[in-house]
Amino acid sequence: MKNADNHHCRNPHQLPVKVCAHCHKSFTWRRKWARAWAEVKFCSDRCRAAHKRLPPANLCAAGAVDDEF
Ligand SMILES: [Zn+2]
Repeated sequence: MKNADNHHCRNPHQLPVKVCAHCHKSFTWRRKWARAWAEVKFCSDRCRAAHKRLPPANLCAAGAVDDEF
């Protein structure tokens, strides 16, 4: 957990930021996560549900494999 670089443009309240374990986008603290923020891994219920069905490796597998040099 780093608290040093919280200079995100869309984060005026200096809220904690995490990266979604499924879509890899950053998301900020929400009030509904106040009690369980340490355990939050996904930006939304959709990602949490999708992650159970679809491992993250499948997200990039389509285009990334051909470019190995
Ligand atoms: Zn997500």
